Amino acid sequence: MITVKFKRDAQVRAAELIEGAGIPVYDGERERIEVTDFGLSNPLVEGAQILTWVQTERIGVKVIALLPHQTLPEHWHPSVENEAGKEETVRHIWGDLIIGVTGEPASADSAADLPREKEIYYTCWHEIVASPGQQVTFAPGEKHWFHAGARGAVAYSFSTVVRDAFDGFTDPGVDRITKVIDDRELQDRQER
Ligand code: ZN
Repeated sequence: MITVKFKRDAQVRAAELIEGAGIPVYDGERERIEVTDFGLSNPLVEGAQILTWVQTERIGVKVIALLPHQTLPEHWHPSVENEAGKEETVRHIWGDLIIGVTGEPASADSAADLPREKEIYYTCWHEIVASPGQQVTFAPGEKHWFHAGARGAVAYSFSTVVRDAFDGFTDPGVDRITKVIDDRELQDRQER
């Protein structure tokens, strides 16, 4: 769960990152940026801001903006019924982006400060420290996560058939639908 205020602030910060990366954010688009906490209620640690440009039954084109040190949790795009599942290409545009994929660690030290005490939910040990223009394609079912370094990160995501609701997450606590509540409501809950 996130608050209305957090959502607005995150949209502003994400739009700044996206524009800073040289991608214009046009009228009305900032308010359309999806702010998700993946149901984990710790959005500065695990979360993402996603501006969707195209989402049809066949193709998805999105801009993903990660705030500094934010992690988009490990997930995969499974096949649904008779469809092959989503193939996704992520192209790094700006900032510090580390992409986790399956495989042996590339070095002894992790470049990503992944969420503490959640190690069991991060099984993609091979880290790609992406440089701008670098892109990685994930086959359907292939696990991956994204982590932003100190500056945050902006990347494009191009994918086939989008069925985000069916995405699999290693962390069973993930809920792809983010609840947004009033700031007053949060206060009431905390006082109770
Ligand atoms: Zn993905």
